[in-house]
Amino acid sequence: MRILITGAGLAGLSAGITLGGSGHEVTIVERADRLRTGGSPIDLRGDALGAAEQMGVLDAVRGARLRMTETVHFVGPDGAVLATAPQDLVGDSPDDIEIAREDLTRILHDALPDAARLVFHEHVTALDDDGAGVDVTFASGATDRFDLVVGADGIHSATRRLVFGPESEYLRPLGCYVAFGLMPGRGDAASRENSFYNYPGRMIGVARYHDKVLAVATFRSEPLDHDYRDPDSGRRLLAGAFAGHTEWRVPEIVDALTADPDLYFDTVAQIHMDAWHRGRVVLLGDAASCSSGLSGRGTSIALTGASILAEALAAHPHDLDAAFAEHEKRQRPYVTHAQATAAPGGELVVPPTAEAIQERNQRLNAYAATASSR
Ligand SMILES: Cc1cc2nc3c(=O)[nH]c(=O)nc-3n(C[C@H](O)[C@H](O)[C@H](O)COP(=O)(O)OP(=O)(O)OC[C@H]3O[C@@H](n4cnc5c(N)ncnc54)[C@H](O)[C@@H]3O)c2cc1C
Repeated sequence: MRILITGAGLAGLSAGITLGGSGHEVTIVERADRLRTGGSPIDLRGDALGAAEQMGVLDAVRGARLRMTETVHFVGPDGAVLATAPQDLVGDSPDDIEIAREDLTRILHDALPDAARLVFHEHVTALDDDGAGVDVTFASGATDRFDLVVGADGIHSATRRLVFGPESEYLRPLGCYVAFGLMPGRGDAASRENSFYNYPGRMIGVARYHDKVLAVATFRSEPLDHDYRDPDSGRRLLAGAFAGHTEWRVPEIVDALTADPDLYFDTVAQIHMDAWHRGRVVLLGDAASCSSGLSGRGTSIALTGASILAEALAAHPHDLDAAFAEHEKRQRPYVTHAQATAAPGGELVVPPTAEAIQERNQRLNAYAATASSR
């Protein structure tokens, strides 16, 4: 089949590997002019490791594994440590693999087979599915016809909007916004660079990985008037959310985030859809079923989904509906679990009140005390 994949994120690249490796002729279009490698380290969990093995990237993934051994420190306004969280509280199982998002993106990109062609700075403006194929018009003015279109263009998927309707029908905000960027310079191995400061409804901090220091900020908010395509819109909202706070390292971290050309700023939200396919168009990854960063499972879902989709198409080569139904049946349980476990994460990361912050800290300290006496 001739297959178009929209988006070269982790879902799109994974689908490029699994579908290109199954004998299909694949074109991937990425709206950006290069691979988007920013963001925080991510986890590969459970069956995603099997999917990585099938894609032939598991050894490379293991080779790039991050060991976040440092304890997480929650500090007060003067930097004094108020609570600590051991890393084992954050992970699911010792078999999980944490990896920098940029490393996984590059590994998947390097594993694309010859049958998968990647085109940057391109996106779809119109799709016409006539039942026998999909006529596609691109922003460049080019047109083409495909047997199947895979929408892997993320939480704000344009493919979903064109085929399934407006984002507002599917997006469920979890009440927070999040920003990731890099602090200037390199991480000093001797310094404590895994510290976070909370005040009601806000969390800001730094985490070291490789020789970099990641800056993180999150804040509770009702949905804001945010244009996710305009990086300056995110910068303004972020600066506004932390304005007037000069405690600890707040201004320094906000300055680093707003100065980072690759700032990642977005709503923390989920995508809920009853069906991920319509006609010859199927959605994958965040476009279909974003579970939010709070679940720690978005990347695993991207990999398992790409692997299951290729298997389902191989099992039903002449029946797309049957293939899509099998894909949904096998993938849905991962998504349901990830979406259900995400919501309580906000209480841990960004408690809404001073009392809730204190309670969170007490719980963490009690956990750490029990863990150390074991
Ligand atoms: C730069 C970046 C940083 C991120 N950082 C984090 C993080 O720190 N923590 C976290 O929990 N999650 C983060 N995410 C989201 C995380 O990558 C996903 O939740 C998960 O990996 C599922 O991946 P996905 O491929 O479905 O979506 P995404 O990773 O969002 O990838 C979607 C891709 O599609 C491209 N795209 C968008 N619109 C179009 C279009 N119309 N046509 C073609 N291409 C398009 C995007 O540029 C992107 O490359 C980040 C995403 C991006 C893009």
